[in-house]
Amino acid sequence: MLDFELKIRSRDITTLLAVLKTANPDVDMTVIRKAYDFAVAAHEGQVRLSGEPYITHPMEVAIILAGLKLDTITIAAGLLHDVVEDTGATLDIIKSKFGQEITQLVDGVTKISSIKNRTKATAQAATLRKMLIATVKDVRVIIIKLADKLHNMRTIIFHPPEDQVRVAKETMDIYAPLARRLGMSNISAELEDLAFHILNPDEYNEIKYSIAQRNTELEEYLDNVRKTISARLNELNITGTIVGRAKHYYSIFKKIKEQKKTFQEIYDLRGIRIITKEIKDCYGILGVVHTLWSPIVTRFKDYIAVPKSNMYQSLHTTVIGPEGHWLEVQIRTEKMHATAEMGIAAHWLYKEDPTAVKRDYKNLTFLKDITEWQADLKDTREFMKSLRMDLYENEIFVFTPKGKIIKLPLGATPVDFAYAIHTEIGNSCVGAMVDNALVPLKTQLVSGDIVEILTSKKGHPSEAWLKFVMSPSTRYKIRTWLRKQDKDRAGPEESSKQKDEKTVKVSIPKDERIKLKSFSKQKGIGITIDGATDVLIRLSQCCQPIPGDDVVGFVTRGRGITVHKRNCPSLKRLSREKERFINILWEGAENIFYPVKLAVEAIDRSNLLKDITNELSHAKTNIIKAEAHVENSDAAIFRFILEVRGNDHLKEITHRLKNIRSVTRVYKLNEKVILK
Ligand code: MN
Repeated sequence: MLDFELKIRSRDITTLLAVLKTANPDVDMTVIRKAYDFAVAAHEGQVRLSGEPYITHPMEVAIILAGLKLDTITIAAGLLHDVVEDTGATLDIIKSKFGQEITQLVDGVTKISSIKNRTKATAQAATLRKMLIATVKDVRVIIIKLADKLHNMRTIIFHPPEDQVRVAKETMDIYAPLARRLGMSNISAELEDLAFHILNPDEYNEIKYSIAQRNTELEEYLDNVRKTISARLNELNITGTIVGRAKHYYSIFKKIKEQKKTFQEIYDLRGIRIITKEIKDCYGILGVVHTLWSPIVTRFKDYIAVPKSNMYQSLHTTVIGPEGHWLEVQIRTEKMHATAEMGIAAHWLYKEDPTAVKRDYKNLTFLKDITEWQADLKDTREFMKSLRMDLYENEIFVFTPKGKIIKLPLGATPVDFAYAIHTEIGNSCVGAMVDNALVPLKTQLVSGDIVEILTSKKGHPSEAWLKFVMSPSTRYKIRTWLRKQDKDRAGPEESSKQKDEKTVKVSIPKDERIKLKSFSKQKGIGITIDGATDVLIRLSQCCQPIPGDDVVGFVTRGRGITVHKRNCPSLKRLSREKERFINILWEGAENIFYPVKLAVEAIDRSNLLKDITNELSHAKTNIIKAEAHVENSDAAIFRFILEVRGNDHLKEITHRLKNIRSVTRVYKLNEKVILK
């Protein structure tokens, strides 16, 4: 909840040092002190609109950063973040006093000075662009910028009203979504509420008032829930801390608007969070919650198995709680919790080695995308538009035929999918199958689709694709190809140069190839072939054989041996080439787990999900991924990726699942697709 008075009251170095002492005792106080003294001297005589000395601002920014448990470098840079922009100090001076790292961070958050012939909007976009590029080099740049923004928003009431609205809009548009994409949900929530307060004061006050009115009743309810769960966890000897969830006014407002619901309906959704030590306890606690109250199957989400792209992990379930109220339950480990609230900043808390941090934030594909396409967008408006689009948090999850999960923006098409797999796949894409049916390339994909791209050497991108593709990076890649094409046509000299450059090899995505290699070297694949030692062996993806299945090997051209089930339909068209088939035996496969995609169809009823997970746990299989949705009014489909030891194990699992009341069908996913 916002408490303006508390947050506006300025604090001094004593507070910072005190916060640091508890938050991060490893911080080098000498460096902090030195940065503080330098900032005090540099900002000497400057006053903020609130009437306070300017130094209070960098000080508060440093306190926010300290609260996020960031390192010495970041906190020092936080203290110094405005000296280059607002005082006579230069980057050279900073460098000589504080070194390269701190200087780079300060530079990253320093505005590009306005140049003649630039409108304010252009200068702003240029500054933003510069900051994002600096962020890709060092993600702490954006963390400092967000802390800066947060303190400016906390004190925005001292600005003239028209400035307030402009800054609040920019916060809502760019900075809050940026924070969200980096997983820094505490900061994004506060930024949104502060901006919401300025942009929609009436609605803000209404929600605040309504919450205050119902608070006592709600607290009592949640307290009971807490007690019930705690008692059960104690009995079972599972450690778990049950906490309430902070109220976020803007998200309530958004839900009311987007879902066209009343405050009452939204607020009736009660939520708790359970935090525990280990991942296995998360699933244990899920079981406990599902035993106490009936889950609503469609609302179960396993973000532990499939983290969101901002690294968020948690189990989400909604149950019909006491008195028939829907109760949202989030279950996660302490580390997941830190990541959920602080996002990328949590890395410093867990003191992971810097290379791990680098690797992880490189996985934040949107940052990679931004650097890729930002250079291409000369036009300010287009840059801002694409940036907003990339920050747009809605995303869908679709599958490759091999079961790999691909995240795409909402509204993405098979072309976006093809480029997300690999640029060459996109460039040679000629058609697409969704769930084994041919679809137009402009089809909008939905979560759960299994997408297969048909490629051809003669295929190439078309200008028309630009009209329907969704992600900025796809657009960029198509444009790059088209531009190259234009150049090729421009003249023979140009064209031969282009050809040299263009000796692209790829037909298989790189990581895929690495996987294949390591697969063949893996001793434990559990297959022997007479007389063959160093041969590339792959289990075919069309029938996904597992130990116990009657299998046969097919010698491919240049890609080793593919193992199929003997009755695999795809072998029929190869049957003329008898000499390319070889016999294969399973061997030493007992202790190896194989992933299998399994679907369970059922008539929805209470406790259904609980019964299914119970049976799976009795069958001693690991759930790698779980997904649930209701197709019609009451037909539920669950998709699992399970680890099985072999055919017998799979049979046992299938048998158990089929015997569950109201389950109508159980099948391996790929087989259904092929046999249909
Ligand atoms: Mn500042």
